[in-house]
Amino acid sequence: MKSIKIVFLLSFLLVGGWLPAQVNPVPAVPEPAGNTRWVLVVHGGAGGPVKGTMKPETEKQFTDSLNKALQIGAGILSSGGSSMDAVEAVIRFFEDCPLFNAGRGAVLTEDGHAELDASVMDGKTGKAGAVAGVTIVKNPVSAARAVMDKTPYVLMTGKGADAFAKASGLQIVDPAYFITPGRYEAWKEAKQKTTPEQPAPPSTEKEKKGTVGCVALDSYGNLAAGTSTGGMMMKMSGRVGDSPIIGAGTWADNNSCAVSCTGHGEYFIRNCAAYSVAVQMQYAGKSLEDAAHFVIFDILKAKGGEGGLIAVDRNGNIAMPFSANAMFRGTVSAGAIPEVSIY
Ligand code: ASP
Repeated sequence: MKSIKIVFLLSFLLVGGWLPAQVNPVPAVPEPAGNTRWVLVVHGGAGGPVKGTMKPETEKQFTDSLNKALQIGAGILSSGGSSMDAVEAVIRFFEDCPLFNAGRGAVLTEDGHAELDASVMDGKTGKAGAVAGVTIVKNPVSAARAVMDKTPYVLMTGKGADAFAKASGLQIVDPAYFITPGRYEAWKEAKQKTTPEQPAPPSTEKEKKGTVGCVALDSYGNLAAGTSTGGMMMKMSGRVGDSPIIGAGTWADNNSCAVSCTGHGEYFIRNCAAYSVAVQMQYAGKSLEDAAHFVIFDILKAKGGEGGLIAVDRNGNIAMPFSANAMFRGTVSAGAIPEVSIY
């Protein structure tokens, strides 16, 4: 009789939810072990030459570098690393590679300096970090990440951002480190064309390419995005483009997608380009492909703004629309062969 009473009492407590932890704990949902389902997309800028006009050996240098970037990202994601870590590592590689307009190899301002912009966004937490106009940080993307991880801010600029990066222990270089012979020659040529009526000639197609970006979905379902650039060739010192502006050049939200843009920054800023892709998916139910295409062609191109973007959604779908002659780009995902293209 006594044991019947105890069983009755226990059932009452269980049904009433009084003893869940002690009697029948709900097991924590295990995170997947990794390498099950992940996607990584990169870009090395839109603009560039008309198909057939780039030297084959130069083209090969670009495709080799894109492949190397994919390999770095795939190595991190396939071993269970986070999308944020993959994005940062891939962009660091591009920043160190002199071919691209980011880090070493950046285009120069009208007074001949490199002023670098970068940003990152974490789709899981909604946190973001960015730096603009930095001049001594070897890897601006890591400074952007440090702003996100170590400060209550989103965007830091100029001297303050440089000092913060130094205090955070990031590698500091002489400003001359960023200037490659090729970019210096292009700057000198552009400078010679400068007149008092036209102080900064607009960038040519050749000079415009090279901003870098990366978006990724990791095997835990988390999205991340990042972008890094030297901006537009012959920009006025102090000019900031879309790349470090969250919502314009970069966006990531686990509810929709991760986006990194490249192109004529002012158009991307005025039209909140990266966020516009996400918002069409989230609130208008559009597919990633339709939303991305709409932003590049129906909004930006319609207003005269050239460029492109890369994006991945929470289901692993990819979009890479561009309205320029070319966009250096590549994709890799679990179980698939990496692919890179230019035109
Ligand atoms: N969007 C960059 C800027 O305007 C340049 C680029 O992507 O080529 O600074």
